[in-house]
Amino acid sequence: MIDTALTSGLGALGYDPAPESAALARLRPRYGLFLNGEFTDPARHEQFASLNPATEETLATVARASAADVDAAVAAARHAYDTVWSTMPGAERAKYLFRIARLIQERARELAVVETLDNGKPIRESRDIDVPLAAAHFFYYAGWADKLDYAGFGVRPRPLGVAGQIIPWNFPLLMAAWKLAPALAAGNTCVLKPAETTPLSALVLGEILQQAGLPEGVVNIVTGDASTGAALVEHPGVDKIAFTGSTEVGRLIQERVAATSKKLTLELGGKGANIVFEDAPIDEVIEGIIDGIFFNQGHVCCAGSRLLVQESVADEVVRRLLRRVDQLRVGDPLDKNTDVGAINSAGQLARVREMSRWGEDEGATRYTSACELPTTGYWFAPTVFTNVAQSHRIAREEIFGPVLSVLTFRTPDEAVAKANNSKYGLACGVWSEKGSRTLWVAQRLRAGVVWANTYNKFDPTSPFGGVRESGFGREGGRQGLEAYLDV
Ligand code: NAP
Ligand code: MG
Repeated sequence: MIDTALTSGLGALGYDPAPESAALARLRPRYGLFLNGEFTDPARHEQFASLNPATEETLATVARASAADVDAAVAAARHAYDTVWSTMPGAERAKYLFRIARLIQERARELAVVETLDNGKPIRESRDIDVPLAAAHFFYYAGWADKLDYAGFGVRPRPLGVAGQIIPWNFPLLMAAWKLAPALAAGNTCVLKPAETTPLSALVLGEILQQAGLPEGVVNIVTGDASTGAALVEHPGVDKIAFTGSTEVGRLIQERVAATSKKLTLELGGKGANIVFEDAPIDEVIEGIIDGIFFNQGHVCCAGSRLLVQESVADEVVRRLLRRVDQLRVGDPLDKNTDVGAINSAGQLARVREMSRWGEDEGATRYTSACELPTTGYWFAPTVFTNVAQSHRIAREEIFGPVLSVLTFRTPDEAVAKANNSKYGLACGVWSEKGSRTLWVAQRLRAGVVWANTYNKFDPTSPFGGVRESGFGREGGRQGLEAYLDV
């Protein structure tokens, strides 16, 4: 049994600081683009700063790739595709992927620090989740590279060619791995566009690709802003666009590639329902709710941002949840004890603040963690809204921050109806002791992923993706290969 006096005592006593060293990041002051196997001279490009959102200090400046730079990257990728990568036996491609995976492991500590500095996420998460999962994706797809004939896509399935890959700021390195590993395993070459606020781990990955001896031009990394992404989408030499980000930009991209021969996969937003039945084990449920919404500051497309709790246990669940929220340690992302880090950018902080005001305006009850926030940097205290109605905007729109909306239900039918009452369909969670009930509910949920008695579990062998306005196409697993094969 948990001694409540002890846990509240720990909260009162606090923890001594346990910071990881920022010096491990070994960042260069200025970066060029990773083009054709080399880093270009930073002086050749307009530079912009990447900030540490926890301190607002500049970590490094990076190149803003122009349309001409994107053109050079696509040309390098095409040449590498034609001359080396598409003709190389799968077993040889696999060797490079295994090497990349092992080098990510070797440089794991450095990568975790870079990711935490650039993104604001707690080092505990970048160290234990982002970086190991990135390595796992390369290991997993390395295993497929020589088995494509047996993957169920016919004999000798063909790669698509040059893939343009646009990734968001919430899991910068992991999203790069999700995009690059299956594309390379299938024999495609890549032009990767990291997000404007989190370009640094992709550039370290560029160094790793060099270390791995990856043939030049197979992967090219073009840092920049929305205009760089748009230039990649428009480029006639690109055969496939893979995008993860907002539904708004996803829609724009879909319009731009319409009536071209480009293939497209979109991984967009979500408003995941985490459904708690009265028979669920409550200690686990509380941790699952916390993980579902406060992992990565809630900057998670599949976050469990709508809690649906059965009415009979709602009071108890909410009471215990709020007590747990107060215990979350918010602050220095480099501290190994930190649970909730910084919001990634001033823009995202403004969005989270505004959307939370909608909750108050529409009459929901706001609870804000009693934590103290640092005075510099971008911070938002963990927040829970109760008395939320389905019509409230905080129950419908993706906030993409540490903000939970709590709704209740009485019957399984009502739980399913409320969970499905969303324009999105990325992920849901179901908490119950009864396997038959969990399966009954899972079969009726319109979502790409359903977790049972857990939340936010990721595995390279398991396909991930959405339905409806959460997008289409799958990443991970055998299904993730299909997005990069001409099938
Ligand atoms: P976003 O604008 O969709 O950005 C995602 C990526 O697309 C970034 O690399 C971005 O570049 C690029 N991009 C932006 N405009 C583009 C265009 N017109 N053509 C091609 N590429 C373009 O998302 P965001 O601004 O980072 O976040 C906004 C909202 O999106 C969040 O509040 C959240 O709701 C949602 N979101 C969802 C996910 C997810 O995993 N599903 C991830 C992130 C955000 P720049 O960064 O350089 O602008
Ligand atoms: Mg940054």
